[in-house]
Amino acid sequence: MRIGVIAIQGDVSEHVESLERALAERGATAEIVTIKHKGIVPTCDGLVFPGGESTTLGRLILREGIDVEIKDAKEKGIPIMGTCAGLILTAKAGDSQVEKTHQHLLGLMDIKVNRNAFGRQFESFEIGLDISFLDSPYNAVFIRAPAITEAGEGVKVLASIDGKIVAAEQDNVLAFAFHPELTDDMRVHQYFLDKLFN
Ligand code: GLN
Repeated sequence: MRIGVIAIQGDVSEHVESLERALAERGATAEIVTIKHKGIVPTCDGLVFPGGESTTLGRLILREGIDVEIKDAKEKGIPIMGTCAGLILTAKAGDSQVEKTHQHLLGLMDIKVNRNAFGRQFESFEIGLDISFLDSPYNAVFIRAPAITEAGEGVKVLASIDGKIVAAEQDNVLAFAFHPELTDDMRVHQYFLDKLFN
């Protein structure tokens, strides 16, 4: 089993550590690799897109030719998880800012995103979030977080705040607007690992 973390930009090491921890918690082993160039994605059984800056991430993924490999992985049913900027990348469409700047999105999910949905006042916050697959709230850390403003029929909404969708799933792709890699609670990473190990 091999899990790849897109390591072009963003909080990569936090995801690597969280995955290691979550694997240890469930007594499982997997090789975790960081991805900066093409050629590695096709060897992975699971993929993670970290938080960071989605414009930069999208541009570099395209430049390195990794975008095509990711789309192939999605088609093959490889579990994929995107957090924060990673959620933005999974989207099919974005807000006017995304459109104006011709920001590159991967279109893995039938969702439309607002890149900075939680304006200035709420740029960063933590909240006890009810997530549909958990039986108690998750302390979710939001940092200049996006939200999903439209979701197609095949998309399962996993969590919302005041009508803004902040977690969703479609087929083998999971997207979270917050940063599960920044807290000690491994339940979100476990949900992702369930898809790999079950
Ligand atoms: N809103 C940021 C973006 O557009 C993402 C912020 C984050 O990943 N913490 O890229």
